[in-house]
Amino acid sequence: MNIHEYQAKELFDRFQVPSPKGKVAATAKEAYDAAKWLGVKHLVVKAQVHAGGRGKGTFKNGFKGGVHLVESAESARDVATQMLGEVLVTKQTGDDGRLVRKVMIAESVTISRELYLAILMDRETSQPVIVVSTEGGMDIEEVAEKTPEKILREYIHPLAGLQAYQVRKICHNLDMGTNARQFGRLLHSLYKLFIDCDCSMVEINPVVVTTDDHVYALDAKFNFDDNALYRHPEISAMRDTDEEDPREVAAAAHDLNYIGLDGNIACLVNGAGLAMATMDIIKHFGGDPANFLDVGGGASKEQVTAAFKIILGDPNVKGILINIFGGIMDCNIIAEGVIAAAKETGLPIPLVVRLEGNNVELGKATLAASGLNIVSADDMSDAARKIVAAVQ
Ligand code: GDP
Ligand code: MN
Repeated sequence: MNIHEYQAKELFDRFQVPSPKGKVAATAKEAYDAAKWLGVKHLVVKAQVHAGGRGKGTFKNGFKGGVHLVESAESARDVATQMLGEVLVTKQTGDDGRLVRKVMIAESVTISRELYLAILMDRETSQPVIVVSTEGGMDIEEVAEKTPEKILREYIHPLAGLQAYQVRKICHNLDMGTNARQFGRLLHSLYKLFIDCDCSMVEINPVVVTTDDHVYALDAKFNFDDNALYRHPEISAMRDTDEEDPREVAAAAHDLNYIGLDGNIACLVNGAGLAMATMDIIKHFGGDPANFLDVGGGASKEQVTAAFKIILGDPNVKGILINIFGGIMDCNIIAEGVIAAAKETGLPIPLVVRLEGNNVELGKATLAASGLNIVSADDMSDAARKIVAAVQ
């Protein structure tokens, strides 16, 4: 799960990670009021979307930049007017861009240095790793590609935690000089936040040193481990489903394991392994899966109905492949769920079904008796071939 920058500020405050004061606004009037409330001359207006690269982004209305420095509450209001309700396209949003529903008004600082700082879970070593670079502010991906030696990693033993010598080493490598104490404190606080909140990634690009020698986290990108969210109701409450794939939001509401993809053949499968194999075999026969969907072993008729509706609600989907190997799953429950959903939504596209295993005969009979236009398949290859042919 991701959160917005303005929400990240709440966590920064709680864990004493220094960041400039700011306030969120959903209307131009609120932006004006927020600027007045801050009561300072130098302000920054920042579009709030779950994507980076805002500074260099462009709005579809032609307005340039999702991060603007302004000098008055009136200008803050004018910039907010340009951004709110408009679609911002950045390197990370794809061509569709993201609708900006909120902006953050914050105190602007005068920057003398921009650094890159991230903490993430390194899967290879199963340890948190702190990643830093002197080349903050710009595209870190470009730094990684052109000058990889400028990106430094410090691995943290998960039980020992972040050690003082490691902080000193990082500060030395970043040439922090007299700002080392402040940067070190920020690092300790951020590491504590990362662990306590079960983050899988925190990226601050940039951490800045100001001309008056303060160190601030100026940007914030957070990613939380979904499996640990139950321990953090206050973080779960920050979820903004407007920023998520609507198909995945609907699936989560029904406890379905669903990941949206770009292809046009939807899959409904029981078991994660079988779902992956199904995607592979669709690819093998020249098709493109529209999703990963594992309805699990003990899915109810309601869940199957919901799954089928999510699939049919995706305008890219031109055909559906149901692949069930019923061990625990009862094939007839799948059949009933599909029929219930098809009755509500109709079945405007080809559907290929491969059923095998527990209660398969009844499942097939139920589907046959439904009068729906279903192509049945003997095995996985047969099913994949048939659905690929049907959508072409
Ligand atoms: P991103 O483009 O989505 O990563 O958004 P950032 O929050 O990182 O802002 C982009 C750039 O705008 C930063 O790298 C800074 O150079 C600049 N910037 C952001 N906030 C301020 C600020 O308060 N003062 C100044 N002078 N520059 C800022
Ligand atoms: Mn940034």
